[in-house]
Amino acid sequence: MPIYEYQCNECGERFEVRQSMGADGSDLNCPKCSGRELRRLFSSFFSANSSATELSDSSCPTCSSGVCGLPPM
Ligand SMILES: [Zn+2]
Repeated sequence: MPIYEYQCNECGERFEVRQSMGADGSDLNCPKCSGRELRRLFSSFFSANSSATELSDSSCPTCSSGVCGLPPM
């Protein structure tokens, strides 16, 4: 059964949901804020064997080290 990843448009929470094929997720809501503005990101079922997830937001665009305290872009 595929696992879909959703992101809440209201609080930004990301969570994974196991759904049967063909489910559209319209009956889901955010586990954190119960918001219903959800966006399906991708299925980790299909991306599990790809290489490391790209997380390039660790460096600060302003000071390059994060010490300025500004959130990354
Ligand atoms: Zn939420």
